[in-house]
Amino acid sequence: MAVPKRKTSPSKRNMRRSHDSLKAVNFQECPNCGELKLPHNLCAACGHYNGREVTSAEA
Ligand SMILES: [Zn+2]
Repeated sequence: MAVPKRKTSPSKRNMRRSHDSLKAVNFQECPNCGELKLPHNLCAACGHYNGREVTSAEA
């Protein structure tokens, strides 16, 4: 099995981890029902997207 020749330095380890932080999820209000939804996603509450009903509400 291949094994690293040297221990990763704290600097290199932290550079790798610089992209690991989580970002806060941003929500937008659905224009149809006012429920919070993810942008560019179908509304889970009313099934609308871009001003029309795509699926009937599954609730
Ligand atoms: Zn909605």
